[in-house]
Amino acid sequence: MNAERQRMTAVLRALSRTRGSTMLARLGQGKPFHTLVATMLSARTRDEVTETVAAELLRQYPDPGTLAAARPERLWPLLRRVGLYRAKSRNLVAMSRELLSRHGGKVPDRMQDLTALSGVGRKTAGCVLVYAFGKSALPVDTHVHRISNRLGVVHTRTPEQTEQALLEIVPRRYVPWVNDLFVHHGKTVCLPQRPRCAQCPVRRHCDFAMLNGFTKTTDNDRGSRHG
Ligand code: SF4
Repeated sequence: MNAERQRMTAVLRALSRTRGSTMLARLGQGKPFHTLVATMLSARTRDEVTETVAAELLRQYPDPGTLAAARPERLWPLLRRVGLYRAKSRNLVAMSRELLSRHGGKVPDRMQDLTALSGVGRKTAGCVLVYAFGKSALPVDTHVHRISNRLGVVHTRTPEQTEQALLEIVPRRYVPWVNDLFVHHGKTVCLPQRPRCAQCPVRRHCDFAMLNGFTKTTDNDRGSRHG
């Protein structure tokens, strides 16, 4: 456990030197309703599309009150380019009505309140906590799940298991960094199909790279890998 903790620390420090800003990091910036809406739209949708659609949706429906008053079908033309747009339209309207009825139209800043909203799971709630409120959470999306398992710091089947396993080994002060750093890394280097291990700044900490011959295991590596 201690070795895994040191390894994750080394990975996060190395990735922080190549840090880029993810879509949600750019959109967040103290706007909880915008972050919540954009994250709900983002599932199975490319970031560029999510960003454009979220901007137009929020231009027409800028707050929970206006969105709560809409019929879900009215959102279909706006949301047609995002995946699962009918379900997302329904959830966005229901979520907005719940914000009005339970929270006075404000986005709550507690995990249990967020995940009680329609269409809001742990990943979405975690993104709102980290990016809009600057709180500590570790939202696990497909990139975080894939990279953590390739590195070999966790051996998990589901994002929920990955979140629990990472929370045991990521030092507390680095927890809010993980999503942003891994999402950026997953889009630029540790790609889903063909990871660019030869260019990867954390390959000497990675089981996948070791197994696939992208690192040479020298005595020096063995001594320094977990440091
Ligand atoms: S070495 Fe390869 S598999 Fe490992 S984190 Fe880097 S890109 Fe991903």
